[in-house]
Amino acid sequence: MRLTVVGCAGSFPGPSSAASCYLVQADDDAGRTWSVLLDLGSGALGPLQALLDPADVDAVALSHLHPDHMADLCGLYVYLKYRPDGRVRDPLPVHGPVGTERRLEEAYGTEAGERLTDQLAVRLWDPEAPVPVGPLTLTPVAVHHPVPAFGVRVEGPAEDDPARTVVLAYTGDTDACDGVVTLATGADLLLSEAAFVEGRDDAVRGIHLTGRRAGEAAAAGGARRLLLTHVPAWNAPDVATAEAREVYPGPVDAARPGMVVRL
Ligand SMILES: [Zn+2]
Ligand SMILES: [Zn+2]
Repeated sequence: MRLTVVGCAGSFPGPSSAASCYLVQADDDAGRTWSVLLDLGSGALGPLQALLDPADVDAVALSHLHPDHMADLCGLYVYLKYRPDGRVRDPLPVHGPVGTERRLEEAYGTEAGERLTDQLAVRLWDPEAPVPVGPLTLTPVAVHHPVPAFGVRVEGPAEDDPARTVVLAYTGDTDACDGVVTLATGADLLLSEAAFVEGRDDAVRGIHLTGRRAGEAAAAGGARRLLLTHVPAWNAPDVATAEAREVYPGPVDAARPGMVVRL
């Protein structure tokens, strides 16, 4: 399984990164590559096209319905519906929280009789029902944010030994909660948001993690590696990584656009 950071800017696109979008890929026994997007936030459809044909994405996993996590599904709908190559594919599965279909149609501004569902097959997350996508399995875990929100555990074959299963856990947006520790438990990589800064935002609860809170969750769950993301343009990523290193003994890094992590 491999992760490519498409966009990692928190809350809105920054000068050097789109908002949240992560491409997770794995190859099956027949050699076919399967591709899942964790979120498709504002600005992310642009750099995504440098990585693959967006029509080859097999599933989109939405953590929640804030624009920095889903806005570019509007552009992806246009791409799928109107690209002139005449290629036909089944509607792209889009897994998300309750309200996803309505939110997409509001964001796009569908006209009477127009349904985004002819291109996008919206399916609601059910924590009791993991979603298989080729050799990958997506399991949503409810987290703590002002709107219904999930992190996603992605299990799949290790790059160096496909018989071995590895786990990538993505927090989406959340404050500290049991769900984040559940996500981190046994994860080979915890891809965690760290939008807030200790001493500046930490009194605000129920919205975001700080680097320290992300580190505490990684430590509590025994995650093998921590990759901090969703750092807004007004923060320095070094501040988040330094906070995490105070409480988490494993490797800590900050996500960058184009970064590839092989698990
Ligand atoms: Zn966000
Ligand atoms: Zn959010």
